[in-house]
Amino acid sequence: MADYQAPLRDMRFVLNEVFDAPSLWASLPKIADNVDPDTADAILEEAGKITGGVLAPLNREADEQGCKWNDGEVTSPEGFKEAYQTIVEGGWNGLGGNPDFGGMGMPKTLVAQFEEMMQGANMAFGLAPMLTAGACLALDAHGSQELKERYLPNMYSGVWSGAMDLTEPHAGTDLGIIRTKAEPNDDGSYNVTGTKIFITWGEHDLAENIVHLVLAKLPNAPKGPKGISLFLVPKFMVNEDGSLGERNSFSCGSIEKKMGIKASATCVMNFDGAKGWLVGEENKGLAAMFTMMNYERLGVGIQGIGAAEASLQNAREYANDRIQSRAPTGAQQPEKAADPILVHPDVRRMLLTMKGYVEGGRTFSTYVAKWLDISKYAEDDERRQHAEGMVALLTPVAKAFLTDRGLETTIIGQQVFGGHGFIREWGQEQLVRDCRITQIYEGTNGIQAMDLMGRKVVGSQGKFYELFAQDVAAFIEENSTDPALRPYLEPLAAALERLSDVTEHVINQATDNPNAVGAAAVDYLDMFGYTALAFMWAKSVKAAAPKAEGDTSGFYTGKLKTARFYFDRLLPKTVSLAEGIRSGSESMMALAANEI
Ligand SMILES: Cc1cc2nc3c(=O)[nH]c(=O)nc-3n(C[C@H](O)[C@H](O)[C@H](O)COP(=O)(O)OP(=O)(O)OC[C@H]3O[C@@H](n4cnc5c(N)ncnc54)[C@H](O)[C@@H]3O)c2cc1C
Repeated sequence: MADYQAPLRDMRFVLNEVFDAPSLWASLPKIADNVDPDTADAILEEAGKITGGVLAPLNREADEQGCKWNDGEVTSPEGFKEAYQTIVEGGWNGLGGNPDFGGMGMPKTLVAQFEEMMQGANMAFGLAPMLTAGACLALDAHGSQELKERYLPNMYSGVWSGAMDLTEPHAGTDLGIIRTKAEPNDDGSYNVTGTKIFITWGEHDLAENIVHLVLAKLPNAPKGPKGISLFLVPKFMVNEDGSLGERNSFSCGSIEKKMGIKASATCVMNFDGAKGWLVGEENKGLAAMFTMMNYERLGVGIQGIGAAEASLQNAREYANDRIQSRAPTGAQQPEKAADPILVHPDVRRMLLTMKGYVEGGRTFSTYVAKWLDISKYAEDDERRQHAEGMVALLTPVAKAFLTDRGLETTIIGQQVFGGHGFIREWGQEQLVRDCRITQIYEGTNGIQAMDLMGRKVVGSQGKFYELFAQDVAAFIEENSTDPALRPYLEPLAAALERLSDVTEHVINQATDNPNAVGAAAVDYLDMFGYTALAFMWAKSVKAAAPKAEGDTSGFYTGKLKTARFYFDRLLPKTVSLAEGIRSGSESMMALAANEI
């Protein structure tokens, strides 16, 4: 099993050569003072050391041990407390946080690289800082000044962690029907009562306090999603002077036994009149929670790439070492009993598919992060609104497409190992088990597809879609005379046209067929994702081509050849997806319940 190494070379390529991130940062005055190319590079280097040297070595043993529950207390696997302390001491929890409350104010384009490393090294562990960062974001955006001052500094430092409490036994996707209640007290606080399930790191021994952001309903709140409010509910009360007081009245009833991410605690949380404080406005909790959820959704997409990168690293090493059969063109290493399996076209198909998804996916997540940075930090209203539209459109694609391809990549990696991929010691089966949840939590991938197709595309009558289409079209136009890009621009333009046609087709169908959106959604999101990654690969070609001549490292030439493979073998999937979408909803809805 290969030791996880942070893919720093590729991250630097994506950041500096594809997106010229230093120029982007310099154009955003609010972050220009926080980050320069040297600082960013030092952060990447250090993040690589910590994730590869501290988190990755714990990954397998922690999966064997899992978390332990005893009378409401949760003990994390051996080594997690010390590793968490390392993350706290390095200030990693607050890397992207608001400097007014102790965060480091680094741009998302950079933070996304750290997140990928952490998730690739140890996904179960990585969930704790990820949820804390998301909780901080929601609190910073919607909390009162008092709540922010009291909680954010210790959360950014990681001394306290955050958890997100939405799901209830009867309410997962449909949060409008939650039953948890919040009764107002005279002192401005609320008593929160109800049961939440599946709460990641809801209870643990890593941090001194755990700050829960809980969705609940006020008395006489309107029915459905418009009657949900958001509350901050700490495990330990926080005194005026910031010290910790008595324990709040809620506890962890049990933790789940599960398929993957076994080293993270998935908790049942029982709130019994627990004291909480409103975050944002009454009955607008879902919108406030979406600040956190959108952040987490890109984060979950990044988990998909992290697991996929780890799988690629393992499979690449194995394919070079494992010898079986001879190359179809004759022995490549006649001195050995057989050739490395890397010589076989089918093994190359697997490795190149993985590389196409991983590197294209990393470029795409950085592209989305770029829009997040602009939407948060641009001073010009028009520039900011344009970026907000892009973020709204691209977030569900990043969550679902990157996790679907992430799982696919972990399974392909397992296949490269043959039978050994099924055996625990090689690590591939854990990657498959861990990655599977990324398609389910933070809104299932089916729901992401509905969000993209229904709310973002049909809901805006194609307005958001046009932002993306224009970006691709402008790139094609700008580079039309570049000989290195010529072989890619034509198929990219064809894929964009195909996607635009299908977009228009579904918008038209949706007018009089209520099932049109749901029937098209998942295939549409896939088609969008494949097209977006083709755009990313074309951008990568533009950055790599001038440096490919005389490149003995194989990095730039490898980029160009992988781009070729992506366009030849993966982008054509959009043709069959378009065909399926055009068939409409009839065959899907024709069966009665007893015919399925
Ligand atoms: C390990 C783990 C960790 C988790 N961590 C957290 C956490 O930290 N905090 C938290 O609050 N929750 C957490 N969750 C919960 C998770 O977000 C939910 O499980 C998920 O959102 C789906 O909800 P559900 O399980 O109730 O499925 P359901 O909502 O019952 O959905 C079942 C199926 O029906 C489909 N479906 C439902 N409604 C529609 C619709 N309108 N249109 C089309 N299809 C539909 C879904 O896509 C899915 O395929 C976690 C879950 C797990 C397993």
